[in-house]
Amino acid sequence: MPATAVDTIPSLKGKVSPEEWQTRVELAAFYRLVAQHGWDDLVGTHISARVPGTEGKEFLLNPYGLLFDEITASSLVKIDFDGNVLQESAYPVNAAGFTIHSSVLAGRPDVECAAHTHTVAGMALSAVEGTLRPVHQKALRFYNALSYHPYEGIADDPDECARLQRDLGQNDAMVLENHGLLTCGRNIRSTWALLYNLEKCAQVQIALEAAGGEIIELSDDLKQSTYAQFQRTLKSNASFGSKLDGWESSLRLMKKADPSFMH
Ligand SMILES: [Zn+2]
Repeated sequence: MPATAVDTIPSLKGKVSPEEWQTRVELAAFYRLVAQHGWDDLVGTHISARVPGTEGKEFLLNPYGLLFDEITASSLVKIDFDGNVLQESAYPVNAAGFTIHSSVLAGRPDVECAAHTHTVAGMALSAVEGTLRPVHQKALRFYNALSYHPYEGIADDPDECARLQRDLGQNDAMVLENHGLLTCGRNIRSTWALLYNLEKCAQVQIALEAAGGEIIELSDDLKQSTYAQFQRTLKSNASFGSKLDGWESSLRLMKKADPSFMH
């Protein structure tokens, strides 16, 4: 088998805590899932997760220069909120990635993971005047719960952090206007599920606008009550642990297809 870029990266299994290793494997899986769906952007965009046992002060980001499909548990780069790289790595982290992800994680102690993409549908949605239209079931998950952050250029200015935090507020999903999509969550799997649903909504909205027909509008009461149904379902599904969000199934498929993300 030909050598890959990550073959030279020594495994961190057994060298970091079991909790950190589990987070690394799950975060690497998240990158691979995004690649599998075609939602990656060469070496651009980022997904981050806090390192357990560091009082929330350290997080993992992708090694800048690797495709998402190449990312492994051991290749993820550990950094702190001052941008210091805390482990030896052959790859740097991206400045804009650091700004966006450190803002979300620092501003929201309840959040363990954040994801950002540049998909065609996400970028299209982000550049159209107006908000996500609450006219189908999936969009109602985000009814009155989607934030918007105006574009300020490539996000390498630390001053933008406070504005990113202000605009995200207490929501777990945000449109980075003229740029792309962002989700965050209490764990890696919920951040993935949210990204999946927001991406689908972006695709639907673009299709709706292209179709150009008369749209069936929903009443405010129905939008609000369906949003509440989503919240109740999320809570009750959580009691079944891993079975109902598709995460374990996705991981099983990935382990079968290409288990190298667990290196
Ligand atoms: Zn971006």
